[in-house]
Amino acid sequence: MIIFTHSEAISQYLRSKKQTVSFVPTMGALHEGHISLIRLAKRNKDLSVASIFVNPTQFNDPKDLEKYPRTIPQDIELLENVGCDMLYLPDIGDIYPNGTELKKDYNLGQVAEVLEGKFRPGHFSGVAQVVDRLLEIIQPQEIVLGQKDLQQISIIRNMMEQYHPNIELVTAPTLRDEDGLAKSSRNRLLNASEREVASIIYQTLVSIQAKAGSSPYPVIRKEAWEMLERKGLRPEYISLINRNTWEELDEFDSKVPSAVLIAAWLGNVRLIDNILL
Ligand code: AMP
Repeated sequence: MIIFTHSEAISQYLRSKKQTVSFVPTMGALHEGHISLIRLAKRNKDLSVASIFVNPTQFNDPKDLEKYPRTIPQDIELLENVGCDMLYLPDIGDIYPNGTELKKDYNLGQVAEVLEGKFRPGHFSGVAQVVDRLLEIIQPQEIVLGQKDLQQISIIRNMMEQYHPNIELVTAPTLRDEDGLAKSSRNRLLNASEREVASIIYQTLVSIQAKAGSSPYPVIRKEAWEMLERKGLRPEYISLINRNTWEELDEFDSKVPSAVLIAAWLGNVRLIDNILL
């Protein structure tokens, strides 16, 4: 695997290669979920390119940025083992040579207003900003994103319609631990007892999915909220949305593609997950 730390170097190298590129942006602390995206990238195009950059502009909470896990040597080993062709490992000056201030208008639409958009102000404009910059540098044919971050997919799709309409967006299913907990870099921050209860988030999503249509949604939602609280979690939202419009729904509607999304705190760790209906 070739490691690049400078945007000009990787841009020039990729331009000289004239091969198709599939790109997987990450913030590192890599796990099997990330690796599954690299596998997909390798299958789809000539070259697989990963990036690791903990983007400060998408962290609304400075403490969260500070404690975000950083495991670069292990990350490199995992990428080598899966056969990733290239890693872009920039520093902040390489991504934001003119400062971190937002300089473009992103029309992110309704999706940016709800859930993560509401609870993490500024998060999605930071996501749009960094992925826009990364796509400018890498200029891939394709970007691969995980369904674990369902709302982020729509944000990036909207940004790409505006600024990168010729790049294809491919999504990959959420990889989970055996007990159902979605793999996440943040899982490393859970202590042993927190880790033991963390799978309740996915179990709750599965139970909402199973009950969909058989009882009123508000009743199911209340039960789910109470279940999370009983296990010691602090839910921020449990939300049923229309996946096309990102409007929150008051009731199940089998005629629209929908999803249930949960964000909940477990100790000092904020976990998110979702399930499609
Ligand atoms: P992150 O490093 O958390 O920014 O994630 C980088 C990419 O990996 C994003 O597209 C995520 O949606 C994806 N990802 C994170 N966790 C998982 C998972 N458990 N399964 C599949 N993809 C994931």
